[in-house]
Amino acid sequence: MVAAAIPQFRPGGQPAHHLSEELLLAYATGGLSEAVALVAAAHLTLCPSCRAELARAQAIGGALVEATPPVAMQAGALDRLLARLDQPAPPAEERLTAGSRDRDIPGPLRAYLPADAENLPWRKVIAGLYEYKLDLPGHQGMASLLRIIPGKAMPQHTHRGHEMTLVLRGDFDDKTGHYGAGDLALTDDTVDHQPVAGAHADCIALAVTDAPLKLTGTFGRLLNPFIRF
Ligand SMILES: [Zn+2]
Repeated sequence: MVAAAIPQFRPGGQPAHHLSEELLLAYATGGLSEAVALVAAAHLTLCPSCRAELARAQAIGGALVEATPPVAMQAGALDRLLARLDQPAPPAEERLTAGSRDRDIPGPLRAYLPADAENLPWRKVIAGLYEYKLDLPGHQGMASLLRIIPGKAMPQHTHRGHEMTLVLRGDFDDKTGHYGAGDLALTDDTVDHQPVAGAHADCIALAVTDAPLKLTGTFGRLLNPFIRF
């Protein structure tokens, strides 16, 4: 049947899997690590409904700040802040040419990439799975772009912490659902899953964990001591 060969797009082309309320609130109040904030910011550029939720969370955060009694500032804090505001930001054009110009790579992520997806120095993890590690000094878990060839299954795994996977290109399925471009998969240590890339195109996703993955399948158990991704 011809129709089965056509990739499925959701109505309106908007993401179906979103940031949780907790993540939105933490993002609004600046409480996320750089890696997690990057995933949140990248999803927000692709998702009108989470942007609307963020505006609501920011209003709540603002009300909370107003209700909090003022605290005396440290000596010189205002001067330091003003000095920082005086420093010129690099021109936007310079930042753009240094990073990716892919249209499907969200703006917040582009600055972390030295090149377009096609020209990144991908590292082969296993056959059909490639990784580009983002430069995020001090981040404990994985913060990578993953590239999975069509139809390829990832090693089965659980997590010691949380995993956030934002699909940028292509799609994947696991037992929790179908994830297309813009969708954010949130999993924790209760989920043992094996994402499988869609059959039509490479799946490129931004994946961040706050602790190393723990591989559980037979193959995964063999790999576990050797890779930390
Ligand atoms: Zn969303």
